[in-house]
Amino acid sequence: MELIRLDKVGFTYPDGTAALENIDFNVFAGERVAVLGANGAGKSTLFQLFNGLLQPSVGRVLVKELPVEKNNYKTVRRIVGMVFQDPDDQLFSSSVRQEISYGLLNLGLPRESIGETVRWALQVVGLAGYEDKSPYNLSGGEKKRVALASVLAMKPEVLVLDEPTAALDPRGVAQLIELLNEINRQLNITLVFATHDVDVVPLLADRVYVMNRGRIVLTGSTTEVFSDV
Ligand code: ADP
Ligand code: ADP
Repeated sequence: MELIRLDKVGFTYPDGTAALENIDFNVFAGERVAVLGANGAGKSTLFQLFNGLLQPSVGRVLVKELPVEKNNYKTVRRIVGMVFQDPDDQLFSSSVRQEISYGLLNLGLPRESIGETVRWALQVVGLAGYEDKSPYNLSGGEKKRVALASVLAMKPEVLVLDEPTAALDPRGVAQLIELLNEINRQLNITLVFATHDVDVVPLLADRVYVMNRGRIVLTGSTTEVFSDV
């Protein structure tokens, strides 16, 4: 099943920067898809189209065949879980429990089930028992895990991660790769991630799109693409 589909998409920022041109892109259920490109290639802009944070200037964006437009934002945002690059852009609350509960409370779920889900999400990311800690006092890697747990708690079908391994030390990178692979295999959650780190791609992706200056310049299975370069 096709979870995300972009047809001939272009995006130009109000200041005239053409950030994306003629993008054909798709993600199927269960896949792990990497979007590889240097800074400024257009990866973050692309990802913001998936859940309506940005609207394409031309072309169309579909999530499970629904056009990503205002009427469908609620549905689309339950399907697509977005993890930002910098956890400080995502963490608001004074406790980890509140942070992870926020979206669930918004859905109107009962408190008991929320407590259960928070415990589950923390356990998945390897932070069992962190409920009463303040997100601000955690290490960078722990903050990233809390941000990931708060998205996982919403049970998305696809996790979209912007530079998930940025700003981690080599051991942190290895642990995060293992965690994301477990999430993909055991929870059956589709992964789409942006990276400028070529080394991460074979460890975390089945398929890759290579971007340069707002265009997709190469795409294929990870093994195909890496035997070409
Ligand atoms: P990446 O995520 O690959 O680093 P971005 O999507 O952030 O790339 O940026 C793509 C292009 O769009 C770059 O030229 C960048 O400078 C530009 N850009 C990003 N955000 C804005 C903005 N808010 N206004 C104008 N230009 C922007
Ligand atoms: P809604 O999505 O219900 O319209 P808003 O996004 O307007 O809510 O946010 C309402 C308040 O909740 C704001 O003060 C905002 O800072 C805070 N908030 C937004 N997102 C989160 C989050 N993930 N965790 C905790 N607080 C949040």
